[in-house]
Amino acid sequence: MALRIGFDLDGVLADMETALVREAEKLFGPGVVRQRGQQAKAGPASMSDLVPEEVSDDSPLRHDLQLTARQRRQLWRHVQAIDRFWESLDEMEPGIVARLEALTTERRWEIIFLTRRPATAGPPAQLQSQRWLEARGFRLPSVYVVTSSRGLIASALTLDLVVDDTPENCVDVAADSKARTIAIFRHPELPPPPSLQTMGIHLVKSTGECLDLLLDIDASLQQQPGAVERLMRNLGLKQSANA
Ligand SMILES: [Mg+2]
Repeated sequence: MALRIGFDLDGVLADMETALVREAEKLFGPGVVRQRGQQAKAGPASMSDLVPEEVSDDSPLRHDLQLTARQRRQLWRHVQAIDRFWESLDEMEPGIVARLEALTTERRWEIIFLTRRPATAGPPAQLQSQRWLEARGFRLPSVYVVTSSRGLIASALTLDLVVDDTPENCVDVAADSKARTIAIFRHPELPPPPSLQTMGIHLVKSTGECLDLLLDIDASLQQQPGAVERLMRNLGLKQSANA
């Protein structure tokens, strides 16, 4: 069987954070943002420190900052006015989209990209996202702009695995679907959020490591049906709720 995998975009494949930080520095000056220091603090700033409540989530940031509510609204208004903002982002890890495309073709995976991106100036967020993926080497990408629970979507689409960097999305998928959840947590110096250490969610430090893991899962699946269940159990990945 072909693995059916849901991939989040921002923080997994696309670097929205760096683009937002760049725009914040344009608006408020370079002093507003620092690269995170080595010393571990209580925890990283989260997306909710950078953008307004209606578009934010609890994904941890690599930069240290805390904008005021007024600055967050100002930044977001500014970003929404940028033509094709979603097409302008860098990759999280250079070449990661092309590598995903190569593995998808070779292993015959079925991929759907899931994103909560709001509209900005220019084409709809869905089309900007498709163009972004195509420009980096993923042909004919299926992109779904999520407006409700990711868990319900993963369940309705009968996905085998979902990859995300936002803890609340990972918990949502683990709770509401049979899909296994791979959480990308890029802060080796910090303990992962407690919510990610429950429900069989598997943590990786990078998208590259995630692709390695997907290859392992795929290889086991090809060798012997049933092996994948054992492998996932060994990896601490969630078992099907009704299995
Ligand atoms: Mg994300």
